[in-house]
Amino acid sequence: MILIVGGAGYIGSQMNKRLNIQGYETIVFDNLSYGHREFVKWGIFERGDLGNIEDIRRVFKKYPIEAVMHFAAFTYVGESVENPQKYYLNNLRNTLNLLEVMLENDVKQFVFSSTCATYGNPQEIPITEDHPQNPINPYGRGKLMVEQILSDYSAAYNFRYVSLRYFNASGADPDSEIGELHQPETHLIPLILDAAIGKRENIQIFGTDYDTPDGTCVRDYIHVLDLAEAHIKALKYLENGGKSEMFNLGNGNGFSVREVIETAQRITSKEIKVVEVDRRPGDPPVLVGSSKKAREVLDWEPEYNDLSSIIETAWNWHKKL
Ligand code: UDP
Repeated sequence: MILIVGGAGYIGSQMNKRLNIQGYETIVFDNLSYGHREFVKWGIFERGDLGNIEDIRRVFKKYPIEAVMHFAAFTYVGESVENPQKYYLNNLRNTLNLLEVMLENDVKQFVFSSTCATYGNPQEIPITEDHPQNPINPYGRGKLMVEQILSDYSAAYNFRYVSLRYFNASGADPDSEIGELHQPETHLIPLILDAAIGKRENIQIFGTDYDTPDGTCVRDYIHVLDLAEAHIKALKYLENGGKSEMFNLGNGNGFSVREVIETAQRITSKEIKVVEVDRRPGDPPVLVGSSKKAREVLDWEPEYNDLSSIIETAWNWHKKL
């Protein structure tokens, strides 16, 4: 069985659905602090907290777990600067708890949700996996620390892992069963869609004076379903004896904030009011990843490789909320 930690969240819940479709048996472990119970429509649900190691031990005792996927993390960069302890306790210490129980139970296959935030300000675009990792905020630093710990565990304990460095996760389940529902919402696409349905008065563009073609930040948006498919490939890679590795997961295409707004306007056929404001601190002008390595080693190919199809799935889900 596969343990999906944080399987009630945005990406974890997609993972749970996809694994079940492919015939895997899953257990979702989530404390529901940010996750949604109604997103866990497949597999077994076990409520528990990674901060309480006995909760983790209980689940490992109860089920024959073969591999673990770990999605449970706080992901607000700005909050990580204001309250780093919250991030280090959850994203770092609680991950150590999980790894401790895995080792106690001799479970040695792990798929970890990492991030392009571990690279910091890019020196070269597209970013490849061997780009220097110099994170510029506690969120990115905590994720990098986990990657370093995984590398040590892998060398010492015959433990094998795949670390997946996501670019901008976006889009929703094409069947519109589950999607993005963050509280608070800070991500560009759901905020634009909120403006389209009138839940929000406007969308603010954070900075129009960047050194980019239209002056707004460029990001690499990758569909959540493509992320889930990459995790399944990573799991199979580990099942087949693959060595510990890390991969970028992005589309390899950059889109500016203005392009995202224009595309959303076209897809929703709604008037979206735009307000230009100052830059948001800590935003690099361009973040685009190379996923050549994942394509070659995992044989992964993103299906949603254009912005329209990503926003369309997000919109179909969002307008039902
Ligand atoms: N952004 C924006 N207005 C918003 C939210 C985001 O202009 O209300 C910009 C943000 O500055 C960044 C891009 O949209 O350049 C994507 O931001 P998001 O928070 O979705 O993801 P991030 O790249 O920070 O992980």
